[in-house]
Amino acid sequence: MKKIGIMGGTFDPVHLGHITLAEAAYTEAGLDEVIMIPARIQPFKQDRKTASGEDRFRMLALLAGMDDKITVSRYELDNDGVSYTYLTLREMQRRNQEAKLFFICGADSFLKIDTWMNADELLHDYSYIIGSRPGYLDTELADHMKMIHSRYGTESILINNEKLDISSTEIRRRLAGGMPVNELIPPPVERYIREHELYR
Ligand code: NAP
Repeated sequence: MKKIGIMGGTFDPVHLGHITLAEAAYTEAGLDEVIMIPARIQPFKQDRKTASGEDRFRMLALLAGMDDKITVSRYELDNDGVSYTYLTLREMQRRNQEAKLFFICGADSFLKIDTWMNADELLHDYSYIIGSRPGYLDTELADHMKMIHSRYGTESILINNEKLDISSTEIRRRLAGGMPVNELIPPPVERYIREHELYR
């Protein structure tokens, strides 16, 4: 059966932490592809001002152009309203009926996932690939995975991704302060940010 990783995010901007997570998920879980989906409006960040959806999409498309494991979907950007993950996964499953879908996420998302809209459906119908980063204990994640499994029967895989202390917040802060970001984002994405004067 085809295995597809779905990685949702604000991606404001996409950075090496995201890319490392997507690639480790692909390799460790034996995925056939990873679809990255920028949120139009992230449910927990509804009041936050971000770069436009179009800019966030184009930065991801630059990344996908360099990595044949990754594609980018406009699904959430092209749909009005808040970008709820259960709706996105429903649609991705409808488009790929024979495939098994894995939602790829970091520790913070997974630790809160049972508070997301329609958590029952999310956790009954899909599997999860979870990556960590500095500041999170694998034991804390493993305990949460066990709780989610016993409550919803959810399959989840904790991968051994390289733990990178990189965040979009820190990248935006550095860009606003004129500091270098070249070790945190791929060169074409950095060029795009500078050419379009984002995050100044
Ligand atoms: P984001 O900040 O752009 O991050 C995207 C993903 O990459 C997250 O899972 C994040 O993990 C992970 N990540 C970021 N930096 C990383 C690093 N250095 N190392 C490893 N992993 C890293 O996106 P987001 O705003 O958290 O949104 C994530 C997804 O959750 C979106 O699809 C959003 O719509 C969805 N969501 C849905 C609901 C809902 O349906 N009710 C509610 C909230 C979020 P962390 O989670 O650890 O930051």
